[in-house]
Amino acid sequence: MRVLGIETSCDETAVAVVDDGEKVLASLIAGQAALHGRFGGVVPELASRAHLETINPLLDAALAEAQTDLHELDGVAVTVGPGLVGALLVGMATAKAVALALDLPFIGVNHLEGHIYANVLEHGHPDHPYVAFIVSGGHTMLVHVPEEHRYELLGQTLARFVGLPFPGGPEIDRLAQRGNPAAIAFPRALAGSGDFDFSLSGLKTAVVRHVRAERDAGREVDLADLAASFQEAVVDVQVDKTMGAAEERKVSTVLLAGGVVANTRLRERMAEAAEANGLALRYPSPELCTDNAAMIACAGFFRLAKGERTSLEVGADAGLPLA
Ligand code: ZN
Repeated sequence: MRVLGIETSCDETAVAVVDDGEKVLASLIAGQAALHGRFGGVVPELASRAHLETINPLLDAALAEAQTDLHELDGVAVTVGPGLVGALLVGMATAKAVALALDLPFIGVNHLEGHIYANVLEHGHPDHPYVAFIVSGGHTMLVHVPEEHRYELLGQTLARFVGLPFPGGPEIDRLAQRGNPAAIAFPRALAGSGDFDFSLSGLKTAVVRHVRAERDAGREVDLADLAASFQEAVVDVQVDKTMGAAEERKVSTVLLAGGVVANTRLRERMAEAAEANGLALRYPSPELCTDNAAMIACAGFFRLAKGERTSLEVGADAGLPLA
């Protein structure tokens, strides 16, 4: 089954053609980071317009790279949420047009499920049950997956951490590699509390306080040490909560998904902890961690293969929940 995948939930326009949810014939991504960088974050109106300008040429290019004709497609999968409504609509209108014109099975995909299926695309299906740690678009969550397509939310971010340089993650990762993770003792909200939510508000306050204290003392803030210590505090909590959730749910596999799991330190620390706890750990290669349409085509394929279809009347849902 040859599935066309389209993803426009945030600031990447992406089109892919994937056979049977495993063989990627084409996966093209047109990023907009340069467009939004000077505004310090994604500007929804600019994102929608850029998607609109890019989507048709990108679709043509993906079909050409896959050496396939629209008539050789067997299904269409598109991200319907969560994300920016105006951005989602561009991909959805394109996908619906293709499905309608060629009378193809159509499936709406949850972006977060797409991130999970980046793993499936690369490594095949994990054994169920497993615990998935997902970080996407500023949201962090822990999900228990007892069987395919069943998701149970265990915990999530309580406060969004703002004020990082756009796009944030890679910048911190790069800076932190030159810094000392033990330079500054930032607070950790660990799993002892018995919940699996991620609250970073205490950490945020501590970072601001540290920067002020250094400046007041006339000292230069060591950005590498700050990034490394901040990252270590975040990763400590993420690893601790993920391992706690795996233990509580008695699973033997932990899966990482989403753009932030491309972070070097997070991968290292999760790998150490998984090994110490006798857990199998899975994560996609960095190229598949970030937003792409191959993961959407893969997730869509497994729902289409079960006979699931989405009505062409479906709307974009900015806050579409996974569970
Ligand atoms: Zn994402």
